[in-house]
Amino acid sequence: MQENTPLVFKYSDIEEKGGLEIKLSPDPALYADAFERPDILKKLRLELNFSVGGDSILLEGKVYAEMQLECSRCTDPIARAFEDSFDEVYPDTLEYVDAREAVRETVALLAPIKVLCSEACKGRCLVCGINRNRQTCGCTTGNFGVFNALKDLKLGEDSKNGKKKL
Ligand SMILES: [Zn+2]
Ligand SMILES: [Zn+2]
Repeated sequence: MQENTPLVFKYSDIEEKGGLEIKLSPDPALYADAFERPDILKKLRLELNFSVGGDSILLEGKVYAEMQLECSRCTDPIARAFEDSFDEVYPDTLEYVDAREAVRETVALLAPIKVLCSEACKGRCLVCGINRNRQTCGCTTGNFGVFNALKDLKLGEDSKNGKKKL
């Protein structure tokens, strides 16, 4: 557990200095398991500001991340940058101030569930799979392929039964 501990600090060290301000860029690979796909996180930068209170240390943290995501409609790669901040209080009963969990939680929540390369993204053809932002295909059913197929099936059954439908 000691090999990757740039985010663990001795409580008494911070206390003696009356606080601590630190900037660091941990290896993004350390957070690979926080994401759906391990290669989402490309760059990570942290700003940690510790201030000493009466019987606790307050950590105000900032997280900056560069991520490689996929458009939810067309699956094209999208590079986006995100930032967020967090606060954490560490009581003076602790020997160490361990910021790993707070950082990990913040980093893991940075990636949005859904991203679009553009609001106007046309997505992919459900029939042939081409990217409709770049190509046009001859598939006539478009987005409603499945729906239309079901409708045709239903009409076919109805005509077999001799029912008349508009
Ligand atoms: Zn797209
Ligand atoms: Zn198509």
